[in-house]
Amino acid sequence: MKNIDILIIGAGISGTVLAERYASLGKKVLIIEKRDHIAGNCYDYIDENGILVSKYGAHLFHTNEESVWHYVQKFSEWYPWEHKVVARVDDKTVPIPVNITTVNTLFGENITSEEDMQSWLENNRKPFEKPANGEEAVLNRVGEKLYEKMFKHYTKKQWDKFPAELDASVLERIPVRNNYDDRYFSDKYQALPKGGYTQLFDRILANNNIEVLLNTDYFDVMNEYSGFEKLFYTGPVDRFFGFKHSMDEKLEYRSINFVSETFEQEYFQENSVVNYPGMEVDFTRIIEYKHFGNQKSEKTTVVKEFTVDEGEPYYPVPNPRNQKIYDKYKEEADKLTHVYFVGRLANYKYFNMDQAFKNALDLFASLEEKDSENYKAVI
Ligand code: UDP
Repeated sequence: MKNIDILIIGAGISGTVLAERYASLGKKVLIIEKRDHIAGNCYDYIDENGILVSKYGAHLFHTNEESVWHYVQKFSEWYPWEHKVVARVDDKTVPIPVNITTVNTLFGENITSEEDMQSWLENNRKPFEKPANGEEAVLNRVGEKLYEKMFKHYTKKQWDKFPAELDASVLERIPVRNNYDDRYFSDKYQALPKGGYTQLFDRILANNNIEVLLNTDYFDVMNEYSGFEKLFYTGPVDRFFGFKHSMDEKLEYRSINFVSETFEQEYFQENSVVNYPGMEVDFTRIIEYKHFGNQKSEKTTVVKEFTVDEGEPYYPVPNPRNQKIYDKYKEEADKLTHVYFVGRLANYKYFNMDQAFKNALDLFASLEEKDSENYKAVI
């Protein structure tokens, strides 16, 4: 493609949304993507058992943002899906987030009301006015007993760090409930795209002004592209700057080893996601994809997740040490004109899917749509 107006690195949520927005203004957009597929970590496909599976772990869409919900519905039908997670603890199966059933099952209590649950929590929690890290955040909410059983070792397996070595925000992603609500999220909109995420992304990108170049590492071809108006970079921020601030201390990321197995039976487990918060196994959770959308097949695909240091970066690791290193890159990034850093890896932030959509939409609005009412009318 000649005459590129907008160059985007990465075909995940952020890159795809920005491509669609700029293409709708008549701009010529080129996305350069290292992998052999679009949709970033949301990529899904039908596997050999005829089941829609996600290559990089389950992705559950949930949002309270009207603008995001409105935007995503333009490109796919969505069916309601309220995600639930159970955890195997002490040979028992309990809901997570912690609710009345969790406490009754694990500790032989007989709580039946919100008031009783509230007083159980009050009696057990260790208050911290402003939790300084993940351990204090959990102790503040549910106390020592549940911390040990459900959070301490899961977190160590997930991050190779104990909760005390992580920002409070990581553990505060999971609420605690004083009722029987066993939904993982409480957002107003919780849904999955009919036909999957790859189809959704394909439709967002379906504009003649957009070209996607797969299997191409931007850093191998960057000298071939110039003269564009803007560059949106969605890869790891340290990679963009040649890891220059990482000589002594590397910015950390976590990756996941997905180990997939087929079972010749209808179901392997009773729920889409079963967490294993204890030390007795190395994996964090088992996903059985067939449950999502109640798919039918004579077999079932089951994926164990082992979190690891090396490999594709999926998660930034939020703690003060990494924030300090990131801040150095951020300072460099802010000096660049016409280059924008967008998304989880480029901002080194643990965004949920809807936040990634929102940030991309907001960035576009702030750059191109001065009048926000006008912007609302456009999307
Ligand atoms: N977590 C935990 N036990 C669990 C589930 C989660 O200790 O059974 C902690 C863990 O530190 C995890 C964090 O809560 O990284 C956030 O969990 P979430 O499910 O949001 O992680 P994600 O689905 O993004 O991997």
